[in-house]
Amino acid sequence: MAFSKDDVEKTLKALKARGIEAGYADNAEQARKKVSAMVSDKSTVGIGGSITVRELDLENLLLSKGCIVFWHWHGANQEEQDAIRRRAMNADYYICSSNALTVDGRLVNIDGTGNRVGSMVFGPRRAIIIVGINKLTENLDTAIERIKTEACPPNARRLNRKTPCAETGQCPDCRSPHRMCNVTAIIEGKPGSIDMDVLIVGEELGY
Ligand code: SF4
Repeated sequence: MAFSKDDVEKTLKALKARGIEAGYADNAEQARKKVSAMVSDKSTVGIGGSITVRELDLENLLLSKGCIVFWHWHGANQEEQDAIRRRAMNADYYICSSNALTVDGRLVNIDGTGNRVGSMVFGPRRAIIIVGINKLTENLDTAIERIKTEACPPNARRLNRKTPCAETGQCPDCRSPHRMCNVTAIIEGKPGSIDMDVLIVGEELGY
């Protein structure tokens, strides 16, 4: 389903009613500028596993501001990656995307490890969540459906996970040792100890 500017306005309003700061950027370049303005120079920033962040090249933007960036994708092995994930959870900012955002303002995410959904709600002082227009969904059911059919399969392929969704694009709610859907989190309001900003971008980003 294609979403109109009215739907975006409705979503921004719904997020604000839930105590979450919400803004809109027309395109990737505008999104980069907004993120740059939100993050203080020389602060610490954790990044969640996020194709959106990579597509926006935010790491280099943050490094150019003198920030110290913790991104587990740079860890050489599981041990190193977990150490970086823990540092990211204690950074000043945490930047990631959301697997889906409902028009009534709920952020829906499914994680394999859980560090991303954990860091979005507690640890950092401020979470900045960037959501491409392709991740807007009508309701919770369509949010989960989008994650299972549009996010998990390409993610599984990217990570070389041998899951049914990687092979067929369909989700049989597998019990594979490679399963990626271990933690489902729905953010329905601003968590008590973290500031939260959602930035909707009027372009397709991530999956
Ligand atoms: S439960 Fe398994 S098959 Fe379904 S989306 Fe998750 S990893 Fe893929």
